[in-house]
Amino acid sequence: MQIPSPAVQESLTWLAESLAQVLDETVHLCCIPAPTFEEAERAAYVAERMRAIGLSKVHIDSIHNVTGILSADSASPTTLVAAHIDTVFPRATPLQVRRTTQRLYGPGIGDNCVAVAAMLSVATAMCRLQPTLPGRVIFAANVGEEGLGNLCGIRALLDTWQGQVDTVLAVEGHGIDELRTTGIGSTRLEVTFTGPGGHSWGAFGTPSAIHAMGSAIHKIAQWKVPRDPKTTFNVGIVEGGGSVNTIAPRATMLVDLRSLQPTQLAQLESRVECLCQEVQRDTGVQVTSRMVGQRPAAALDSEHPLCHGALLRSPRLVGILSCTRWRASSSASPTSSRATIVGRSTASISL
Ligand SMILES: [Zn+2]
Repeated sequence: MQIPSPAVQESLTWLAESLAQVLDETVHLCCIPAPTFEEAERAAYVAERMRAIGLSKVHIDSIHNVTGILSADSASPTTLVAAHIDTVFPRATPLQVRRTTQRLYGPGIGDNCVAVAAMLSVATAMCRLQPTLPGRVIFAANVGEEGLGNLCGIRALLDTWQGQVDTVLAVEGHGIDELRTTGIGSTRLEVTFTGPGGHSWGAFGTPSAIHAMGSAIHKIAQWKVPRDPKTTFNVGIVEGGGSVNTIAPRATMLVDLRSLQPTQLAQLESRVECLCQEVQRDTGVQVTSRMVGQRPAAALDSEHPLCHGALLRSPRLVGILSCTRWRASSSASPTSSRATIVGRSTASISL
């Protein structure tokens, strides 16, 4: 167990005493709408908070990522502490938060408002108490993590700070007793079925895009995939058709493929391609697919200093990590090797 410096110890004490403010901040963030690709309002609020906290060079980029820097004498090493501000909940979702003595309930509270609030509180503690740092810390509220955002926010940040970021800590609100070092590979495909259409009575027998899509989904549902390495598939959204008595001229489905192993993921991708050709041949409906999201599988070596750093050697130092355990990432978030996942070699973990 490492003995924390007085400034670190003081910061931790301050954080423990600031829990009520963190919860208030969480509720405030939750009440600002921020669906993926519509994060501007929440970004503006976070930028305002970063300025008030005392971070320097607070900046909102063109896609509404927000960054603020905790200056140090040296810019090297640089740590990026990032929490995503977007939510899966559409703009029309009522943003109401209910509190009980033990819990907060609201859309996006856990994913990821509480993490953004926690990041801001850590920034506050560090600005107030100025622990001696060996390098620079960039605090970031990133966009485009959920849905079809395809990690556009963190990708843009790593492009902006290309070659300057040594480590990334991604902060997530769920699983607060976990440290994740393995990132799931995922590929998301939009498959489109196109037919001639026609009246359900008058043109009966004409190939239907929806019937063809149903056939494809039926085949996918019967696929067998390995449990180890864990590999999964899901048809998550289907759309199409015009009316109840129209032979559907068009239908689309979104397919999510995941695996901890790149070769398994590649096999699933080619299976979808083969399926498209098969259904086209069997039904006469044109079937095309396009990639709408991709995150390569990656893992941080367990011997990496980031994994054996102060958090693991001193888990009780930060309370919430008292139950820290190794675990392969299993959420939709970019989690662990976030930077590695988006094609960079920066060492990354997720808390
Ligand atoms: Zn998340």
